[in-house]
Amino acid sequence: MSLRRRTLLKVIVLGDSGVGKTSLMNRYVHKKFSHQYKATIGADFVTKELQIDDRLVTLQIWDTAGQERFRSLGVAFYRGADCCVLVYDVNVLRSFDTLDNWHEYFLKQANPADPKAFPFILLGNKIDIDGGNSRVVSEKKAREWCASKGGIPYFETSAKEDYNVDAAFFSIAKTALAKE
Ligand code: GDP
Ligand code: MG
Repeated sequence: MSLRRRTLLKVIVLGDSGVGKTSLMNRYVHKKFSHQYKATIGADFVTKELQIDDRLVTLQIWDTAGQERFRSLGVAFYRGADCCVLVYDVNVLRSFDTLDNWHEYFLKQANPADPKAFPFILLGNKIDIDGGNSRVVSEKKAREWCASKGGIPYFETSAKEDYNVDAAFFSIAKTALAKE
């Protein structure tokens, strides 16, 4: 098989502070999980190579570096984004209710040529907590939100238990690639 092209895809991860954005990235890229909560400071992005069909893809995944509360991310953060990953915590209603704001905010900042066609994906994280007994947002409700935004793909994940994380990011890469 020939690897014809190497493609760089810029992926932006957004969502309320504490929903598990950094943990999902760490799980996916470094295969590890930490219980410690610390605002991400330092590297702006991590990269991961993967193969999709005959293409070698480099995912460049940008984290919000703990600035999400201040909405103070510069223009460079959004520039050239190929996909936006929205994350909420299935156990925290507020993190679901703010998705509209994040969605709108991203489109305003990134200002893509065709906002309706821009690839988003939604991750409902921390489904492991209390065996799912403490969740306050149902899968149905999340899927309805995705449908209302034009059919955003949805995955339920656990960075802690490594549930669905690879599948979600693979789908993210495919979604971003399809728009190339
Ligand atoms: P961020 O602010 O969105 O980047 O969130 P973090 O990745 O820093 O995670 C916030 C807290 O939630 C940390 O204490 C993590 O260990 C924890 N956490 C993240 N993902 C999960 C998960 O899937 N399950 C559980 N139980 N805890 C998680
Ligand atoms: Mg973080």
